[in-house]
Amino acid sequence: MRGLVKHMSADGNSWEWPFRCTNCNQPFPTSGFPYRCEKCGGLYDYQDPISFDPVQSARPGRRSIERYRRSFPLPVNVDFVSLGEGDTPLLSHRISSREVFFKCEHLNPTGSFKDRGSAVLVTALIAAGIKEAVEDSSGNAGASLSAYAARAGIQVRIFVPEYASGPKQSQIDAFGAQVVRIPGPRSATAEAVQREAEGGIAYASHAYLPHGIAGMATIAFEIEEQLQGAPGTVITPVGQGTLLLGLHRGFRALQSAGVIDRIPALVGVQASACAPLWAIFSGGASGLSVASEGETVAEGVRIIQPLRGDAILQAVGESGGRMIAVDEENILKGRDALARIGLYVEPTSALVIAALEDVLESCPDPIVLILTGSGFKALEG
Ligand SMILES: [Zn+2]
Repeated sequence: MRGLVKHMSADGNSWEWPFRCTNCNQPFPTSGFPYRCEKCGGLYDYQDPISFDPVQSARPGRRSIERYRRSFPLPVNVDFVSLGEGDTPLLSHRISSREVFFKCEHLNPTGSFKDRGSAVLVTALIAAGIKEAVEDSSGNAGASLSAYAARAGIQVRIFVPEYASGPKQSQIDAFGAQVVRIPGPRSATAEAVQREAEGGIAYASHAYLPHGIAGMATIAFEIEEQLQGAPGTVITPVGQGTLLLGLHRGFRALQSAGVIDRIPALVGVQASACAPLWAIFSGGASGLSVASEGETVAEGVRIIQPLRGDAILQAVGESGGRMIAVDEENILKGRDALARIGLYVEPTSALVIAALEDVLESCPDPIVLILTGSGFKALEG
């Protein structure tokens, strides 16, 4: 039986995961690695807010998110699985006489922001004694998990929608993971991997499991460090929304630690073809009737039922931000505009520049745009 008894928490006690079911409050078990509550099927989430330790985090010259380890839900005596993720550049650029900043998450080890979550999640798998796992992904998360699993010596099988870009599947394959292609929409892939998980194999889901959210919070920590203060606005693509949630909790952690006074307005961007959270934000629950799982070049955000949708909308509202939907033509125009200033990103990343025009007048400075994934592995569009 897998267990965590040999691990220790920072206070010297035996380790327990700091998660509870959001529905029935059941703690995450000390043995096994369920992707959702064993009692009621609810989602696990952090029982306490993510924290930020200004002293431990100030370790300059180290290119990895490991310096934020105290913010992660990990026992202290497990080696952190790292490929040098994080510490990505924050580039300034002038648009319509305003200075904006690009957080270059496409420059992470496997070419996407997902590496921050994978580093934390795969370290957690090691802590739980797991040697084999499955995951589903439209591409970036699968490639990222495969790389970190390879680094840690864990065997993974990645379920991908058949429409996912060839380069992403090749990347997963190159890391030694098995790629399982599933025809039909993204939701068909999710159903296929859940059937596998019911058979008892660990489902290392970046969407269901809460571990990776603390990894995403490090983007907020770095932005604050690079700007020497809080941004006014952060614009980010939203699919499952773990990135936006991580940003929100990261900025909240900085605020609780007294590092910043206020959190930025969080602006979440979806593709009009599949924009369920934009639909609810704009039209309330009835807005969902217009949301569809349509095809989009922004394949990374083609998620019709984001698992933590309520939490994401709450975070956006609480921050004074908003949701925006962008059509296909403007996504591709945005991608081309970014390339012409030297930033080669995938169409999903271009959502943020396409949305910028909508918020430029109304959102406070400094404005940070998160560039989530590399153009090297995107489909031609
Ligand atoms: Zn439960």
